[in-house]
Amino acid sequence: MNLDYVLDKSSETSPSQEEALFLFRKSRDVNEASKIFATAAQVRDRELGRIFKLDGEIAPVTSCQIKPMCRYCTFSQETLTPEEVLEGLKLAEKAGIGDIRLSGGSDLSSDGDEVIELVRMVMANTNLRVHVNIGPVYSQYNLETLKLLGVIEVGSSLETINPSVFKQTKPGDSLVFRIETAQAINRTGLKLQSIIMVGLGSSDEDYIEHLFFLQQLKNLTHLPISRFNPFKGTPMESRRRASPWEAARLCAVARLVLRTPDIRIAAGGGPDDIPLWLMAGGNRITSLFIHHNKCEPERFSGENPLHIERTFTNKLEVVDRSSICRYFAEDAGFSVNPSNRADQ
Ligand code: SF4
Repeated sequence: MNLDYVLDKSSETSPSQEEALFLFRKSRDVNEASKIFATAAQVRDRELGRIFKLDGEIAPVTSCQIKPMCRYCTFSQETLTPEEVLEGLKLAEKAGIGDIRLSGGSDLSSDGDEVIELVRMVMANTNLRVHVNIGPVYSQYNLETLKLLGVIEVGSSLETINPSVFKQTKPGDSLVFRIETAQAINRTGLKLQSIIMVGLGSSDEDYIEHLFFLQQLKNLTHLPISRFNPFKGTPMESRRRASPWEAARLCAVARLVLRTPDIRIAAGGGPDDIPLWLMAGGNRITSLFIHHNKCEPERFSGENPLHIERTFTNKLEVVDRSSICRYFAEDAGFSVNPSNRADQ
């Protein structure tokens, strides 16, 4: 296969599965990667504009019933109360974020009734665009209700499409349920968010198979790519952190295969990843986190406190990286949405 030929084709239309695997393997070499990234960035600019998006997250809004817990996870079982969620919405509005994601743990035996109740309360109390990334296996009725309520995106993430890697790293979870939920969200006409995690043990072939599974889901609007990051006290604490290069290479090939979804720097990445992400065709990050101040205490500890706003309100912690994310993206020649005149 010839790289220039495959890239010429990929500039206009998605590569085949075989070509995508060829591109992913070629991108291991930094010189070849620069050509692949440039084509992915061109596709992003043409499809979505040279715009970097920021969003916010409130978590955890539901507890996680997965037992045993996923082997890399430090998710707190203590959830925010409805009052704290409402307070979090006000804080997000004040921070100037337009899109907020309600994130929570999974319950494979649920049909999503508790999520509907929460979303009704949230929609009645905010003008923010509301996204939901909570793991239950929603009933069809509840998916239709989320659509009627005006939820922007609903998440169902596989993390890896390889059944044995899934079983090793997420022994209490169900790949089949997650696939079926993603398909049901898509069928209902809701926009779908679905995460791929790099560094869990997926092979090159797994990543490409995963992208082509997602390509069939025409309502996929958002692909977060997370980087495995070992947390102390978890069964996977001694495994090496995933490389930012692997995440960026997957971002570039995902842009060529999927074309229009937002591709976001997700957990395990941060503001310093923005330049590489923009070069690789990515376009989004979560810059505002509102959570219990006991939730994942180490998660943001490496960041510069002078430029990351951290405030505590009652039991909530607000980590606002919007200013530094805007600065890093604008420094690379991108407009940022939402913009914030106060930063300039
Ligand atoms: S489903 Fe999500 S929140 Fe629950 S244990 Fe797994 S990674 Fe953690």
